Amino acid sequence: MIFHVLTLFPEMVKESTSHSILGRAEKAGLIQINAVNIRDFAVNKHGQVDDSPYGGGAGMVMMAQPIYDAYQHALKQSKSPTLPVIYLSPQGKVLTQQKVRELSAEKEIMLICGHYEGLDERIIEEIVTEEISIGDYVLTGGEPAALVLIDAVSRLLSGVLGKEESHQNESFSHENLLEHPHYTRPPVFMGREVPEVLLSGHHAKIEEWRREQSAERTRRKRPGL
Ligand code: SAM
Repeated sequence: MIFHVLTLFPEMVKESTSHSILGRAEKAGLIQINAVNIRDFAVNKHGQVDDSPYGGGAGMVMMAQPIYDAYQHALKQSKSPTLPVIYLSPQGKVLTQQKVRELSAEKEIMLICGHYEGLDERIIEEIVTEEISIGDYVLTGGEPAALVLIDAVSRLLSGVLGKEESHQNESFSHENLLEHPHYTRPPVFMGREVPEVLLSGHHAKIEEWRREQSAERTRRKRPGL
């Protein structure tokens, strides 16, 4: 899967995706991060990509033209002309595992990272197919949000997670339930024992215990689910 990321900070994106599971996935060719530097499409030789807002007020607004040119540049590298073009924005729909699953079926996705006060509204109207937020709070830039999306989507792609990192039973994978608790060695830590059933070797009982735990902790921690 190819993630085209339009950003003022391509190194931030490339560096963050080069480690651990995503780094391995990229080396194996399962994902590709095409970080396009919006500043390469600046409107003048001073590298200008933002300007003060019409109507006054604090902060700068990212200009439409450099983003449009960066978008056209990425489109030329894409084999998928109808790919989703997502603006990471606190005003978007909050990302869910269901949305992550939908996006994982795409071959390519374009992600636009804003900065400062955000983008000139006209570029959103012109090229953005949807706006996605990673939560009801405001970040300084869209890059951390793009990285969250890339991470969540990539780990659902075939071959990205090894057996030991499976996503089969995890939170939100079954009926929107949280996953059961996990334990590993030693059997006693600070006087706290591993639940006996997990040491019993009785697979049916272990499964039943995990289902109950999953339902119980969803009720307790996230009753809204
Ligand atoms: N002025 C904007 C507003 O009030 O809606 C906020 C702009 S924010 C300081 C700068 C950039 O960070 C945004 O253009 C967006 O790309 C990104 N951003 C901030 N919060 C985000 C969130 N919760 N989810 C996704 N992206 C976010």
